[in-house]
Amino acid sequence: MTPLARALAEEIRLSGPIDVARFMARALNDPEHGYYPTRDPLGAAGDFTTAPEISQMFGEMVGLWLATVWEGAGRPSPFALVELGPGRGTLMADILRATARVPGFHHGAGLHLVETSPTLRRAQAARLGPTPTWHETIETLPSDRPLFVVANEFFDALPIRQFVRDGQHWRERRLGLSDGALSWGLGPAEPNPELDRRGAPDGALVEIGRAAQLIAAGLATTVAGTGGAILILDYGAWDGTGDTLQAVRAHAPEPVLAHPGDADLTAHVGFRWLAEAAEPLAAQFAPQGAFLTALGIGERAAALARHTPSEATALAHALERLTAPAEMGTLFKVLALLPKGTPPAAGFA
Ligand code: SAH
Repeated sequence: MTPLARALAEEIRLSGPIDVARFMARALNDPEHGYYPTRDPLGAAGDFTTAPEISQMFGEMVGLWLATVWEGAGRPSPFALVELGPGRGTLMADILRATARVPGFHHGAGLHLVETSPTLRRAQAARLGPTPTWHETIETLPSDRPLFVVANEFFDALPIRQFVRDGQHWRERRLGLSDGALSWGLGPAEPNPELDRRGAPDGALVEIGRAAQLIAAGLATTVAGTGGAILILDYGAWDGTGDTLQAVRAHAPEPVLAHPGDADLTAHVGFRWLAEAAEPLAAQFAPQGAFLTALGIGERAAALARHTPSEATALAHALERLTAPAEMGTLFKVLALLPKGTPPAAGFA
C-alpha cells in the first residue's frame, strides 16, 4: 500500500466511504503524499509527456492564437496572460518567445500562473524567471483587466464524481474498504435532476466535473466583464459518457487503485459542460489536429526543417504526434471561450 492509500483507508475507517472526487483530490494534491506536490511528473523520466514537451511548435501555435485574439480585441493594455497548471513552464516559455515581436503584447502582459505544486512552481521559476505572479486558485487572479487564459492538460487533473443510472435514480460510485483494502462500491439510489438531462441509458456511468465547471464559470465571469479569451486544450469529448478515470505511471496505464499518490490520475474533459458553465461567453470547439493545422503548424515544421535539416526527421515525427488522428490529433480537443459577438477566432473552421 502507498502512504496515500493508507491515509485514505484510515479516513474511510473513521468516517465512511468517499466519492471519486475526494479520492482524486487527495491522490493528486495531498500536500504530504499527493502526486503533484511531491514530484515533477513530466518527460521521459516521469510518468507522462504533454504536447508542449513534444515540440516548441505547439506553444508557438498557441502563442500565435493568443496574439491574434488579443489584436482582434483591440490590443487591450494592461492585460493578464494566465496559464492554469503550467507544468515545467515550457508552454509559457514558447508562447513568450513566439509573441516577442508582436508590438505591445509583452509590454501589456502581466504573467499569472495558477499552480499548486511547489515542485513545479520551482521548475516554472527556473524557466520563466522571477516575473510571474503565482496563484493557488483562480480566485486571486486580477479581475480589473482582460484575461487571456490558456490551459493544457489542466482540466483532466481536476476531481470528478461518477454516477451510475439505476432506473429513475442514480447511484454514486464510492470507495470503501474490503478486508482493509480500498475497494469500489455504489452509494444508495437517489434522484438527480441534473444528471437526468444527460439522457444516459440504464446502467450507464456518467461523470460530473464540478471543480472544472466552477473554474470555467469563474474565469468566464471576469472575461465577460473585462474582456479576454480562454483556450482549453485537453483530451475528452464534447458530450461523453462512460468511465474515463485512468491512472498512468511510467508511461503505462495501470489500475486506478494500484498506486494512489504515486500514479497520475485523470478523467476525460466533458467540454459541453465547461462551455455551459461559461455561459456568458461564446464557445468554439475543434479537434487539436485541425486547430494546429489551421494555424499553420505544417508550414512552421517545414520552415524549421529548412533552417535545421538535421532536425527534419524529429520535426516530422513531432508534427505527426501532435496532429495525426491516430496520435493526439482527434482525441485531444480545443475549446475557445470568447465574449459573445467576437468574430470567429483563428484555428476554428
Ligand atoms: N500544462 C502542463 C502540465 C500539465 S500537468 C503541460 O501541458 O505540460 C497538470 C498541471 O496542473 C501541473 O502543473 C499540476 O501541478 C497542475 N495542477 C493539478 N491540479 C491543480 C489544481 N487543482 N490547481 C492548480 N494546479 C493544478
